[in-house]
Amino acid sequence: MIRKLSDQYRHEDSDLAPYATHNMATLGRRHPEEPHPFRTDFQRDRDRILHSRSFRRLEYKTQVFLNGTGDHLRTRLTHTIEVAAISRTLARALYLNEDLSETIALAHDLGHTPFGHSGERALNKIMEAHGGFDHNLQALRIVDLLEQKYPEFNGLNLTWEVRTGLIKHRNASTKLDEKKLPLHASLESQVADIADDLTYYGHDIDDGLDAGLITEEMLDEIEIWRIAVSKAKERGAKGGKERMMSFTIRCLIDMMVGNVIIHSDNLLVKNKIASPSDAQDCKTRLVSFEPGFEKMTLKLRDFLYHNVYFSKNVTNVNDEAVEKMKSLFSTYIKTPSLMGRFAKTRIEKDGLHRATADYIAGMTDRFAHLEYARCCR
Ligand code: MG
Repeated sequence: MIRKLSDQYRHEDSDLAPYATHNMATLGRRHPEEPHPFRTDFQRDRDRILHSRSFRRLEYKTQVFLNGTGDHLRTRLTHTIEVAAISRTLARALYLNEDLSETIALAHDLGHTPFGHSGERALNKIMEAHGGFDHNLQALRIVDLLEQKYPEFNGLNLTWEVRTGLIKHRNASTKLDEKKLPLHASLESQVADIADDLTYYGHDIDDGLDAGLITEEMLDEIEIWRIAVSKAKERGAKGGKERMMSFTIRCLIDMMVGNVIIHSDNLLVKNKIASPSDAQDCKTRLVSFEPGFEKMTLKLRDFLYHNVYFSKNVTNVNDEAVEKMKSLFSTYIKTPSLMGRFAKTRIEKDGLHRATADYIAGMTDRFAHLEYARCCR
């Protein structure tokens, strides 16, 4: 027996809620392509992202802790895989399009610079007079322009739904291809977005403990953590400290996922959402934590900002790396011939600064260090 594309479409109405993005309703690609016999457009987009060079480079990019500083710490790649898995759980539970949520999740961090958030902030500052730098927009630039896989066009030629799904921060005048976008991204994109948050809340506690930046006693100050501890105990968790901590993090993630599913479903009913456009035009964001619960997650986020992301141990190391990135930028501006072959071909079209920012943003931590050693000493 073979499951053909038409068989997948046949079950779509019963598999998906009316407000989900249906595969059959895709607005398609910029460069039209023949349908694939076995895969839907969103499945194809997922595979295009998985097979892209920028996806593979996520393995050597810093998530929080400088890449290579610990074998168990998350990188951008392992973070992305965790976000994709949680996105699938959320999308499936809410009868949304799992493939679309997963695809957006897999692409969501493609635009990140080397050296984590410090790297992004530095590049944004350097690019201030040249249009700035934002990792979400950069992800779109990568899939639309910078990946080189196809003979007839630049980029990966992804569907409209995946491309718009990467534009998270919107206002009334946000556009793509001259088309005005609705206030909110699709529900599938909202799923990937909240999955990103709750994934890093969970894994950065894990990594923060592993790196010795936070302790169990410090976490005891955080209400949502105390609830997770009591859930872990209710489920009979005992044993060594490490095992107890891991199980508590598991309970925390489970609580957050459950809260999003139940609250989002309530909001969909309450706002009488009957179509994807109802969801995107709704005043409120529909995939979200229950407000009281969200307050607790924000306290946890503040805690992580203070004690992990902007702790001296993390920022000192990252800042040192960022200084190298800045020197590299000015070296390329002075001597563009030092840049890679493809980056140089973009200078005429995009200007020297944008081509340099694209080149540097695409680098892994490792390559940026090597380039610094080659060009700046
Ligand atoms: Mg992320």
